[in-house]
Amino acid sequence: MFIKGKLGRFADDLLGRRFGRLVVVGRASNLPGGHARWRCICDCGHKTVSMGRHLRTGRAQSCGCRAKEIARATALKTFTTHGECVGGKSTKAYQAAKCRQYQASKLRRTPAWLTRAQLAEMEGQYHFAQVMGQITGRQWSVDHVVPLQGRSVSGLHVPENLQSIPARDNSAKANRWSE
Ligand SMILES: [Zn+2]
Repeated sequence: MFIKGKLGRFADDLLGRRFGRLVVVGRASNLPGGHARWRCICDCGHKTVSMGRHLRTGRAQSCGCRAKEIARATALKTFTTHGECVGGKSTKAYQAAKCRQYQASKLRRTPAWLTRAQLAEMEGQYHFAQVMGQITGRQWSVDHVVPLQGRSVSGLHVPENLQSIPARDNSAKANRWSE
């Protein structure tokens, strides 16, 4: 179905259609070139205006929240690969399982409200531990002040709960917390 745009052009009627997270709820004013724009409501609750062309081609799929989430996931991936699970005397398979479990809990304990700046700050902690490891010649790791998987308390994976310390101190402290 086609409807006539404000400048006399014909535009696809996208009203009511869904594109990714966006649902088209109305027409917005055309761009100077006559390109149709549509008012959309995103699944996250935000309102946005998108070009019909961008909606149809898949370029516009959210109010911007999707791109933010992808950036967040990428940042998370980056600072979960810094090898803090390395070490210990158990078997490789056990270590790997433990590592996966730990990283999963880290993701669970990472609040959605963290800003990019906070994520960058946390990434910085991991980088700092790496650099300190190189300087001191012993392994440093990023430690959660309040552990993520504690029996009585569970800390959050947030900048305020991170500290970079030599690996041995970290395990000593971990033992204390886990009783
Ligand atoms: Zn959104």
